[in-house]
Amino acid sequence: MRDALGREINYMRLSVIDRCNLRCRYCMPAEGVPATAHADILRYEELLRVAQAAVSLGIDRFKVTGGEPLVRRGIVDFIRSLKELPGVRQVTLTTNGLLLPSLLDGLLDAGLDAVNISLDTRDNAQYQAITRSTHTADEVLHAVRLCAGRLPTKINAVLLPETAAQLIPLSHLAEELPVDVRFIERMPLGAADASPNEPAHKETIDLLRAVWPDLAPVQAPRGNGPARYFAAPELKGCIGLIQAVSHAFCAGCNRVRLTSTGHLKPCLCYEQGTDLRPLLRGGADDAALRAAIRQAVYQKPAAHCFAERQDITEHKSMNQIGG
Ligand code: SAM
Ligand code: SF4
Repeated sequence: MRDALGREINYMRLSVIDRCNLRCRYCMPAEGVPATAHADILRYEELLRVAQAAVSLGIDRFKVTGGEPLVRRGIVDFIRSLKELPGVRQVTLTTNGLLLPSLLDGLLDAGLDAVNISLDTRDNAQYQAITRSTHTADEVLHAVRLCAGRLPTKINAVLLPETAAQLIPLSHLAEELPVDVRFIERMPLGAADASPNEPAHKETIDLLRAVWPDLAPVQAPRGNGPARYFAAPELKGCIGLIQAVSHAFCAGCNRVRLTSTGHLKPCLCYEQGTDLRPLLRGGADDAALRAAIRQAVYQKPAAHCFAERQDITEHKSMNQIGG
């Protein structure tokens, strides 16, 4: 379906839980966020009902997110049910990867189309400092190696001042394995530091070209999102840049987000949206649910204001939104 500005909206991020087994410092406060009452989180049947209504409006690609989606019990069966909904074209997952080794076979069997694995550094001590946990980058790399070649796999690394030296080590994973490695500008939401993002686009490309001189932009579309991809003959995967702050891509935005409590958000930057949970639990019929989704999409703002910052009205942290 199209929003008021004519943008085609065909992609929904579905957060299934706000809890997480990590505490990444750009995502949530050290102490975590106050636990959401179990009853306030949408049940799987409710999520599927929203997905079904969304499909009938032309939203046919879903990204399952969290918190950490793999900590929610029954996630594999949920992904299977989502994939089986008539009209659903693609179901992908974003995860910190820690629970992937035990769930991967089930996820593949359930029909998962692709996975994004978050990894900001290959350095174990730095990983522990960023995620405020005792887990290691090696555990995540193990999951990446299990996925590579079995399903389309992307590594997402948020650019942080202290991980500037990780640009090349992380990019080497695209040479070693058939995975895309994407660097994401940190967005000033929730727990994210207010310091400026870095490094700048040109510096990043220059650093990468020092290692892969033939690195060139990929012209063909790749994936559902706004990443700009680069390829080189030596690389099995691509290197991507997602510059949500410095190069807003709002004019081509194709997505809406559903939080785990059922708030449908047309833009990451603003609190505004439509609460679907009262409809789901209040006996609303499918037509009413569709009308509510249509209304949220229709009200999608023209652009975010992450660069200017002062007009941001979203105060939830990323784990409560889903990224
Ligand atoms: N736990 C899963 C994971 O880490 O992939 C899914 C949820 S997480 C909120 C989704 C994505 O949002 C991750 O790739 C994470 O790095 C990213 N993210 C979290 N906080 C961010 C921020 N302030 N700016 C940019 N990306 C952020
Ligand atoms: Fe958890 Fe993902 Fe947030 Fe890290 S980015 S704290 S893994 S939800």
